Amino acid sequence: MEKERKNYVAHCLVLPYPAQGHINPMLQFSKRLVQRGVKVTLVTVVSNWKTMSNKNFTSIEVESISDGYDDGGLAAAESLEAYIDTFWRVGSQTLAELVQKLAGSSHPPDCVIYDAFMPWPLDVAKKFGLLAATFFTQTCTTNHIYFHVYKKLLELPLTQTEYLLPGLPKLEAGDLPSFLNKYGSYPGYFHVVVNQFSNIDKADWVLANTFYELEQGVVDWLVKIWPLKPIGPCLPSIYLDKRLQDDKEYGVSMYNPNTEACIKWLDDKPKGSVVYVSFGSMGGLNEEQTEELAWGLRDSGSYFLWVIRDCDKGQLPKEFVDTSEKGLIVSWCPQLQVLTHEALGCFLTHCGWNSSLEALSMGVPVIAMPQWTDQITNAKLIKDVWKIGVKAVADEKEIVRRETITHCIKEILETEKGNELKKNATKWKNLAKNYVDEGGNSDKNIAEFVEELAQRCAALN
Ligand code: UDP
Repeated sequence: MEKERKNYVAHCLVLPYPAQGHINPMLQFSKRLVQRGVKVTLVTVVSNWKTMSNKNFTSIEVESISDGYDDGGLAAAESLEAYIDTFWRVGSQTLAELVQKLAGSSHPPDCVIYDAFMPWPLDVAKKFGLLAATFFTQTCTTNHIYFHVYKKLLELPLTQTEYLLPGLPKLEAGDLPSFLNKYGSYPGYFHVVVNQFSNIDKADWVLANTFYELEQGVVDWLVKIWPLKPIGPCLPSIYLDKRLQDDKEYGVSMYNPNTEACIKWLDDKPKGSVVYVSFGSMGGLNEEQTEELAWGLRDSGSYFLWVIRDCDKGQLPKEFVDTSEKGLIVSWCPQLQVLTHEALGCFLTHCGWNSSLEALSMGVPVIAMPQWTDQITNAKLIKDVWKIGVKAVADEKEIVRRETITHCIKEILETEKGNELKKNATKWKNLAKNYVDEGGNSDKNIAEFVEELAQRCAALN
């Protein structure tokens, strides 16, 4: 047993929340750990893992635990609240069983790296005397805001029009995550994001999928209260430092990408001419918004590649489907390949954190069309702090009108301002690469994490 143990620095169980935007960065980080001699077991949820495709990664083992809904996951639950309640309870038990099972193996776990959305793996880890690292899959900015709510330093419902929190730029109430500025919407998720901090003081490390320069002020503030290490961007290495061999994609996918169709279609479009449109893995524009977006894209006269989830396709106006010869509509695409394709002009995005970080890391200017949750705050940072995009502003009915969409597209693709945004995006792309490349701040933080992990494991064993 001892002999095999010496083959690796430590054994980490990595537990993402079962959603594409959470699995992607945690799996990428896992690959960086493996490169440094850490053994990693990805712990997935039975219901989620069954439906994932393209499981293309080696050197990482996979074990599954139960969320209490092995046939269907969240979709099978009566409500989000019921799902979370059951998952948190059943997950704790089944993770404890897994830790016990592995404790008797030749590779017992030393550390649990868990998604900050789920605080309970930390308690399980500590019960078994293991080390624990919490992993933020959202920005430090958003988490800092939620932490203020947790500490009751930010009063809800919101009472001010502007907020000045330490380390952050001035934020209007409307720039705060939707769970705060629409207090009472999605109480289940509100509970999740605020309770990320319920036991964080017991975590041995706090890892964040960001890089220092992106969120300097807030990182400087948070390192004073938590053992925080920014380790991002957690993207396949080929798009950044190219130091991980064959690391071309995240490695798992909730949906099957229409790769060939997308790339073939992009290949014969002029350089910088295509608007890529995606609202992430959750989808969910309403019918009126889908229609406005459709006509806005058509009226811009630009080529567009639009990802629409199958369940939402019925919302497209029929005449639009018949006449949209400048567009390609797919149900899922290889987003990273699309963002780096020469034909790409800009990215109209919901501003999910992974999509935002991918745009920043690939030097793509953005049209921000946030819908809910942290996307609202990410859009503010994209426009006013990182200055890589414009915001498609919604009207009083919360619909972004077709004229606005057409205007934003033209502004990015045809004006000097668009060139400036592209230049800024290129600056961030170079910085992102430098941060994960050898000797960059994120690279050093990962090295430091592994070193500390090794020392702490040696002290425990
Ligand atoms: N994505 C993809 N193909 C698509 C749409 C999205 O591969 O057609 C990936 C995208 O690259 C990103 C993730 O799905 O890594 C979505 O995460 P994000 O945080 O942007 O949004 P969420 O799905 O969590 O709302």
